[in-house]
Amino acid sequence: MIRMGAKRGPRVGIALAALLALGACAGGGKLASVSSDERSAIEMRLMRDISILASDEFEGRKPGTLGEEKTVAFITDEMQKAGLVSGTNDPGSAWRAPVKLVRSKPFTSRIEVQSGKRKVELDADAAAAFTVRRRELVERAPVLFVGKEAEEVAPEDITGRVLIMLGEPGVSPRRRATLFESNPAAIITVVEDSAAISRVNRGYGRERTMLASEAEGSLTAFATQASMSDVLGEKAWNKLVKAAEDKDFTPRELDQTITVEATSERVEFTSYNVIGKLPGAVPNSGAVLLLGHWDHLGAACGAEDAEDRICNGAVDNASGIAVMLELTRRLKAMGPHDRDIYVLGTTAEESGLLGARAFAEAPPVPLNTIIGAFNFDTVAIAQAGSPVGYIGEGQTPLDPMILDVMDKAGRDLGDSDYAARFVRRQDGWALLGEGVPAVMLSTAFGSEITLSPYLSGNYHRAGDELDTIVLGGAIDDLLLHEEIVRRVADTSLYSPPGDE
Ligand SMILES: [Zn+2]
Repeated sequence: MIRMGAKRGPRVGIALAALLALGACAGGGKLASVSSDERSAIEMRLMRDISILASDEFEGRKPGTLGEEKTVAFITDEMQKAGLVSGTNDPGSAWRAPVKLVRSKPFTSRIEVQSGKRKVELDADAAAAFTVRRRELVERAPVLFVGKEAEEVAPEDITGRVLIMLGEPGVSPRRRATLFESNPAAIITVVEDSAAISRVNRGYGRERTMLASEAEGSLTAFATQASMSDVLGEKAWNKLVKAAEDKDFTPRELDQTITVEATSERVEFTSYNVIGKLPGAVPNSGAVLLLGHWDHLGAACGAEDAEDRICNGAVDNASGIAVMLELTRRLKAMGPHDRDIYVLGTTAEESGLLGARAFAEAPPVPLNTIIGAFNFDTVAIAQAGSPVGYIGEGQTPLDPMILDVMDKAGRDLGDSDYAARFVRRQDGWALLGEGVPAVMLSTAFGSEITLSPYLSGNYHRAGDELDTIVLGGAIDDLLLHEEIVRRVADTSLYSPPGDE
């Protein structure tokens, strides 16, 4: 599960009409009950898989590391043992769908203002520039002052110039993104003081992982008001700031030129989504997707002087992968099902749902043939019998069928408002934004009382280890999904809306 604030998902545009079109058929009897012996057997297999994935040997499963290789190999192996075939639908890349990633960490930065023969370099505590490329250099570029948030600037005035805009980081990103579309040489956002520069350095200065397709450079710089006043002249600067308040303000070209240089430690690498498939018996009847992210935060994650720095991610998300694999084994045993069941282990969820977004960009089957997607993330928290958090409730045509299965299984729906808070923080969001009915059902998210001790405790810390795992709720979740997926995969028990 990703952090709040790391969200960078697509916009959702799911028509509520689809909901009213009621996709569910009746049918499906009472749930088969499971003996306590069988529950114990399931628990043992979950424990085994989690203990492997969350072992120190897997190094916290960071994309691009040896830990990734071990993780991807383990998942592939388990899928094969369960009787799945490759689900990439690409013989040239069986089981593994490549995801091109870039990891970049800002390294050096320089901003220099030239007025005639005078040349002034801004101090490090008064300015900073960032790139995701290895190096970007803009030399003695003309400068355009574009004022505050509101004004529109003609694209031809922007291209090739260094823009100076007033604003605060956190308020201005949207305007910056719009301005960058017209290819300025760089954008310098003027912030209040050096405390703001420190904040910017803490944010932009961090290591980031991105989809390679989105890691094109844009030279983003920040400078304090005082430094601008210094290099442009106090009078001139105050005049500009005042002019920007005017409702008739138009951008102004300055007499100075500016040099901006930034470098980063940039690594390009290929990570993998693992995709398996249980082929269905009825051709062209659509597909069901199970997914969970295999990645976590790696081996250099805890405090630098800590004895244990590995974020093993036992709950987040070795547990989700283990439940998904066990569900797959059980579905295989009760098959064949009518529809194809795809099983996806995503990479780089922790960096912003990147693997799920890559899957949505290049899916092995058209996205509109996926009639239900079920995500497993951070599942091993609740006791058996806990209410079920339903993330994605009200956003897909799956609701009536899911609620019916829950009702028949005697399962209680958890706190819907609480569950809704997490919809953007899980892989399903990347699919939901593309119109795929993607939900996440988990006892871990059933109530704040259940989840919040984890979030304020071991979440994204080295303490997320095997000995904290609680499997009662996870096994409930698994059995609930078994019934739901069995129905969704059966053409006589479930039809997507508009298909009856
Ligand atoms: Zn996470």
